[in-house]
Amino acid sequence: MSHLNRIQHYLSTEGIRITFADVTDAAKEAQEIHHLPSLSAVIMGKVINAAAILAMDFKNHEGVSLKWVTNSPIGVIHADAYEGQYVRGFLENPDDGSVPYSPEVEPSYVSNEGKLFVTRYSLLKLPYVSAVDLKKGDVAACVSDYINSSDQTLSYVGIEGKVDEKGQILRMAGFIAQLMPEGDEKLFHELFNDQKKWDVFEESDREDSLAGLLKKDNYVLLSDAPISFRCTCGEDRIKHSLQGLPKKEQESLLEDDHIEIACHYCGKKYEISRETLTKWFNEDKGGNVQ
Ligand SMILES: [Zn+2]
Repeated sequence: MSHLNRIQHYLSTEGIRITFADVTDAAKEAQEIHHLPSLSAVIMGKVINAAAILAMDFKNHEGVSLKWVTNSPIGVIHADAYEGQYVRGFLENPDDGSVPYSPEVEPSYVSNEGKLFVTRYSLLKLPYVSAVDLKKGDVAACVSDYINSSDQTLSYVGIEGKVDEKGQILRMAGFIAQLMPEGDEKLFHELFNDQKKWDVFEESDREDSLAGLLKKDNYVLLSDAPISFRCTCGEDRIKHSLQGLPKKEQESLLEDDHIEIACHYCGKKYEISRETLTKWFNEDKGGNVQ
């Protein structure tokens, strides 16, 4: 079974839970939409991957939004995973392409004394935000740090990206392994530690292949779904946010015969006429004391 563009949840009989996500096409799409050089593209893809694997409570449709303040030239990274099968993301300050991606440069761009804010919500939980100060490390190490400090569950995260010689994303996949309360801690440490590197792309039974490990009899597949890039933007959302603007700002928007709004996440452009704006702002008056 191919793992390409899928999100899968496993539980082993030894009490180890693994969420695996291959977000190859989503990472490619993010690179294309945002015109990202390799460094920004891989980091963006990894942060999207992180959002996907952090949405572990698939039964309750857990959603995860990451706001990754890198404190480096690439600025703030945003990524969302929702409905168990969709992801999206953007970077506020993509790099200029002068430094190609390499695992060696990644830590200084993602965790330059920055901070990671994680919002989680589900059918059972209202949105709540937790934050962690980022220590030096790559995306996976930072996410591992976050989950170990916020969840109090022994966890290990691995995320890998591959690019071709032109800097285009070829593959992007990652996983989170967590020890359940009754789980085998010794086995967990043997399998998941910084000395052992799992190949998340290899589909064979090779010893370092994560897919090979997950194929074994002691791993039960709990859920398997396709995962893809999708944005939640739309005219309705724009309408609501514009209706929330102060009256003065609304008036300034009415000066031109139309306004153009581009979605940060997917780049889609919305052209909204003065006529429509006037209608929206008038609708909103019903609920407000002027
Ligand atoms: Zn959008």
